[in-house]
Amino acid sequence: MSFNAHIITAYPDMFPGPLGASLSGRALKDGLWDLALHDLRDFGQGKHNNIDDTPAGGGPGMVLRADVAAAALDSVDNETALPLILPSPRGQVFSQSMAEDWAQAPGLVFLCNRFEGVDERFIEARRPLEVSLGDYVLAGGELAAMVMLEAVLRLLPGIMGKAESGRDESFSAANQGLLEYPHYTRPNMWDGRAIPDVVTGGDHEKLAAWRRAEAQAVTKSRRPDLWARLNDKKDDKSD
Ligand code: SAH
Repeated sequence: MSFNAHIITAYPDMFPGPLGASLSGRALKDGLWDLALHDLRDFGQGKHNNIDDTPAGGGPGMVLRADVAAAALDSVDNETALPLILPSPRGQVFSQSMAEDWAQAPGLVFLCNRFEGVDERFIEARRPLEVSLGDYVLAGGELAAMVMLEAVLRLLPGIMGKAESGRDESFSAANQGLLEYPHYTRPNMWDGRAIPDVVTGGDHEKLAAWRRAEAQAVTKSRRPDLWARLNDKKDDKSD
């Protein structure tokens, strides 16, 4: 069964965009996932077909109308069975574990906003999951939706060339939440630098131990926050 990606946006032409290339593009052609675009402008109100209006109480920018957002959402088939995601800098920060959860769903609905925000009453009534890419501000939710969708699509069965290459990765549970170990490929000697002997030596156990130690060292030095969290989790388990 194909994974249903629904995008509600005022800029449907932005899609599939980069998701139409490479692995996700081939998978789209092969019907492993499908893309349904819902143009916010089709749900505009009044003679000017407005989808936004000035903020109540004043302030800069425009606000996406609750009635427009709700009408667009109601046009999505099977909408209540799918997680509803509102990309927003106010949301919880997107993570690999969210991508893993969402990849189990029959599909996803993204509401992409381009204004100051969405009328809060829509958020109260429809309870979207507000998710942020990180602590910076984009001009709209479309690129954020593409990033999140790509992270999910590559986890769907049949999309990656080799099933396991999707799992044993930075942040993944199979990698115990560590950042990834270093990679090498031919030529054996480049720029006066050889591939470490342990990598080419053929002793699989030794290599696995080396990779694990490298992954730990990289995580500890680059992401002390991640390292501290992993160690807290381990302590919880041993209690
Ligand atoms: N006034 C908002 C920013 C609006 S940016 C604030 O200060 O929080 C316009 C839209 O871009 C947002 O509504 C959201 O949909 C999207 N966006 C901006 N930054 C984002 C981020 N870090 N992660 C996800 N979506 C983001």
